[in-house]
Amino acid sequence: MAAVAETVVRELRAICGEDGVIADPRQLVVYECDGYMMEKNAPDAVVLPRTTQQVVDVVKLCAAHKLPVIPRGTGTSLSGAVVALDGGVILCTSRMNRILKVDYRNRRALVEAGVPNLWITDAVKARGLMFAPDPSSQPSCTIAGNIAFNAGGPHTLKYGVTTNHVLGFDLVLPNGEVVWLGSEFEGGEEVDGYDLRGVAIGSEGMFGIITRVVVRLIKAPQAFRMVLGAFHSMDDASQAVSDIIAAGIIPAAMELMDQPITRAVEEGYHVGLPMDAGAVLILELDGLEAGLDRQLRRVIEIFGKNHVRSTRPARTEEERADLWKCRKRAFGAIGRISPNFVTQDGVVPRTKLPDIMRFIYDICKKRGLGVANVAHAGDGNIHPIIFYDERVPGDVEKAYECSIEIVRKCIELGGTVTGEHGIGVEKADLMAVQFGADDLDAMKRVRRVFDPDGRCNPHKMFPGGARRLTFKPKKQAAV
Ligand SMILES: Cc1cc2nc3c(=O)[nH]c(=O)nc-3n(C[C@H](O)[C@H](O)[C@H](O)COP(=O)(O)OP(=O)(O)OC[C@H]3O[C@@H](n4cnc5c(N)ncnc54)[C@H](O)[C@@H]3O)c2cc1C
Repeated sequence: MAAVAETVVRELRAICGEDGVIADPRQLVVYECDGYMMEKNAPDAVVLPRTTQQVVDVVKLCAAHKLPVIPRGTGTSLSGAVVALDGGVILCTSRMNRILKVDYRNRRALVEAGVPNLWITDAVKARGLMFAPDPSSQPSCTIAGNIAFNAGGPHTLKYGVTTNHVLGFDLVLPNGEVVWLGSEFEGGEEVDGYDLRGVAIGSEGMFGIITRVVVRLIKAPQAFRMVLGAFHSMDDASQAVSDIIAAGIIPAAMELMDQPITRAVEEGYHVGLPMDAGAVLILELDGLEAGLDRQLRRVIEIFGKNHVRSTRPARTEEERADLWKCRKRAFGAIGRISPNFVTQDGVVPRTKLPDIMRFIYDICKKRGLGVANVAHAGDGNIHPIIFYDERVPGDVEKAYECSIEIVRKCIELGGTVTGEHGIGVEKADLMAVQFGADDLDAMKRVRRVFDPDGRCNPHKMFPGGARRLTFKPKKQAAV
C-alpha cells in the first residue's frame, strides 16, 4: 500500500475502530467485485461504520485526501456497481442494520441503511404489514442498495419498485454535509418543492451515502393463490402472460423459467418441477379471499388456451413457500452446472418476450455458450444467465459479447438497458445506445449538484469512464 494510504488507514481506524477497517490485501480480495465478476479491482481499504457520524468523518477524510468513496451494502449487485476501479475506500453500511422505529398507525418504519430487505417485513408481519419490494436477493441485499438501484423483484408487477415504497432518507454528501431528502419519519407523506428523493433513487451510489431510510409499509394481502403452469414452449408461456394481462388480471407475480433453469432448480432443490417442460410459469394472485378462486379459474383457462401441458396449484402454504424458494434461489442452482455465469437484465415490451428469447438462444449457441433464463415476465424483465468458464481462454469475452448484444437487442425491440440491476460498469457504454448526448449531459449535470468532483462511486453509469474486462482469464485448462 502507498505511504499516503497507510496514513489514511490509521486515520480510518481512529474513526471506525480497529475492527471497522479492512486493509489487508488478502482480505480486500473479497471486495474486488460484486455479483458481476467480469470487472475486478480491489479497493485500498474497506470501512464498516456503525453510525452516521462515522460515515461523515470517513467521507470528510476521503475528501481531504481526494480519495474515491464507493458506497456498498452487501455487494449483491449484478452490474459491477461497487467495483473500486481506481482503488479508494469502500464504505460498507452492512453494520448499520437496525430497525430504529416502527409507526404502525402511519404504516412506516425508520431503518438504518444496511438493514437487509427481508428483515423489514419480518419485523412487522405479525401486525399484518409488509415492505413490498422483494428482490430475489432479499435475505441479504440492503435497503440502501435497493434505493441506489431502485430495485424491483417478482412482485413489481402489482406493487411497483423501491421508489414507490421509500418515503425519505438521509444522504451524506461527498463533502461530508448531511441532507434529508423526502419525508421525515415524523412528517407527512408529501413534501413540497422538487422531489429530490425521487432524483436520488436509482443514482447508484454516485450522489452520496445513505445512512437512514423511512420506508412505507403496506397491509399484507389477506389470501394468496399460486399456480405453476408447465408449457410446451417459451412461445406458449409468453403468450399466456400477454393474454392474462389483456384479460384484465393483474397477478402479484408472473415468473417465467425456461427448461435449462427449471432442470437446474429441480436438480438442486427437488420440489417436483417438470424437467421436460419447454417453459414453466409461476403465477401468484393475492388480495381479498373473495374472488381469488374465480381469478384462478380464469388464469387456468387462459393457460389451457395456450396449450399448457399441466397445471399445479399450490395446495398448502408450504407448497407455495417451496415454489418461491425455488424461484428465488434459481441463480444459486446454476453454481452446480457452470463455474461462472453472467446475468443480464434488459427489458422488452411483454409481447416481444418470444423474440428476445429466440435471440438469446441463437447468439449464445453461435458462441458455444450455455444459457438459462428466468424472467419477471409480467414486466418483460428478462434475466438470461450466460454460462462461461473464466479458465477457458476467450470464454469471458464471448460471454461479455453475448450479454451486450442481448441488451442492444432489447433496446431495438423497444425496451431498455435495465429493469432493476442498474448500469454499474457493465452497461455504462450502453447508456449511449439508449440515450442521446444531451440526455446524458443533463444526467451528469444533476450528478455534479451532489458530487461536483465525481469522487463518489466513480466510473459508473456513464459511457467512456468504465474500463472493460480488466479481469484477464487465467491461462489454465478447464477441468
Ligand atoms: C441471487 C440474486 C438475485 C437478485 N434478484 C434481484 C431482484 O429480483 N431484483 C432486483 O432489483 N435486484 C436483484 N438482484 C440484484 C441486487 O441484489 C439488488 O440490486 C440489490 O438492491 C443490491 O443491494 P446491495 O445491498 O447488495 O447493494 P450493493 O451491491 O452493495 O450496491 C449496489 C449499489 O448500491 C449502492 N449503495 C449501496 N449502499 C449504499 C448506501 N448506503 N448509500 C448509497 N449507495 C449505496 C452501491 O454504490 C451500488 O451502486 C439480485 C442479486 C442476486 C445476487
